[in-house]
Amino acid sequence: MLCYCFSHMPSVTSAPIRIALLPIVAFCVQAYRICCQEWQKNSHAFTSKCGIRRRIWRGPASCTAQRAAAMIKRNFVVQYSTWRTHAAAGELMALESLQRVLAIVLTLILPLFALLAIRGPVDGAGDTTAGFWGAKTASVNWCERDYAASYYIAELANSLTSLCLVATGIYGVCAHVTLVELRYLLAFFSFVVIGLGSFAFHATLLRSMQLLDELPMVWANTVFIYICRSMNDRGNSCRIAEVIVLALLTVLATLAVVIFDTENQNVFLLCYGSGVQYLVWSSYVFCQKSANSTAWLLFTTAMLCYAGGFLLWLIDRNFCHSVRPLYLHVFWHFGADLGTYAAVLLWIWIRSEVLARKVVLRGRSLLSWHIAAAPQE
Ligand SMILES: [Zn+2]
Repeated sequence: MLCYCFSHMPSVTSAPIRIALLPIVAFCVQAYRICCQEWQKNSHAFTSKCGIRRRIWRGPASCTAQRAAAMIKRNFVVQYSTWRTHAAAGELMALESLQRVLAIVLTLILPLFALLAIRGPVDGAGDTTAGFWGAKTASVNWCERDYAASYYIAELANSLTSLCLVATGIYGVCAHVTLVELRYLLAFFSFVVIGLGSFAFHATLLRSMQLLDELPMVWANTVFIYICRSMNDRGNSCRIAEVIVLALLTVLATLAVVIFDTENQNVFLLCYGSGVQYLVWSSYVFCQKSANSTAWLLFTTAMLCYAGGFLLWLIDRNFCHSVRPLYLHVFWHFGADLGTYAAVLLWIWIRSEVLARKVVLRGRSLLSWHIAAAPQE
């Protein structure tokens, strides 16, 4: 019934808002249902002096609203922890399934990537709708319709979902601040910078804001590559020569993106993509050496989220006019965010193994996963 109502909402309400509202409404309906049950169970019916049939609360003497809130919370926690128990029991099976899905995703990526390379993108380049930020000077215009939902934000869904990177970065820093070396905190901080840059880019479609999105992605790769290069270092040894080479390469990549990418994103995609390839390969080698199931779980999850997001990004760019209502770029933001977060967790895990620190992976799902020191025995 809920799905029916949502699919027939007025057309002014865009699809992402409907999708976001669905769980909230489902939660409210569930809460209301529990409140009604509690009320029925703990109340007593009587007829007032005016002859009106009424009910009065006969439950424990505590505040009714407080009890209702506690009931709702308990109900959801029980449902969630039951699901968690099943998930933990089948962890290895889940890992195998994840790997199978990953193989399918990677196989699908290849032809779509080839199509994009041969034919070029088919996205929102011809969208002439004007808005607050004036001429669209960015070298790319994504599939989402410009200024469709707001006069002040060019791509509302893409802009808002960029902020999930900011939240992930802040969570990463807060959850690991006492556990990890500075470079890992810098890695989490780069999520915040990328998220804000991405928000500005999607909101304005200006070239200057596009650089605020793309350049931090290249710089973050530099931090990630340094993390992988120094994975087996003992203590705080500093790799002066490598830092200088990495810094020079980063400056060159920055200049190349600024100078040559005025018509398209090719130089950026080349610089960023080659960094990602190096990171994937390094992470794979770490997992092979570690042979730990948690490391493999983190690696597979990271790959699946990132590659899944990239697959949707490719579909969006190749078939924009057919898939526009699906807002697939939004899911690229989620996939890249969670995938990169899982990759940083993997590097923290591997680093802890190198330093012989006992750690555990905590959290109920990828959204709350974090590495923590193992409890003392
Ligand atoms: Zn984006």
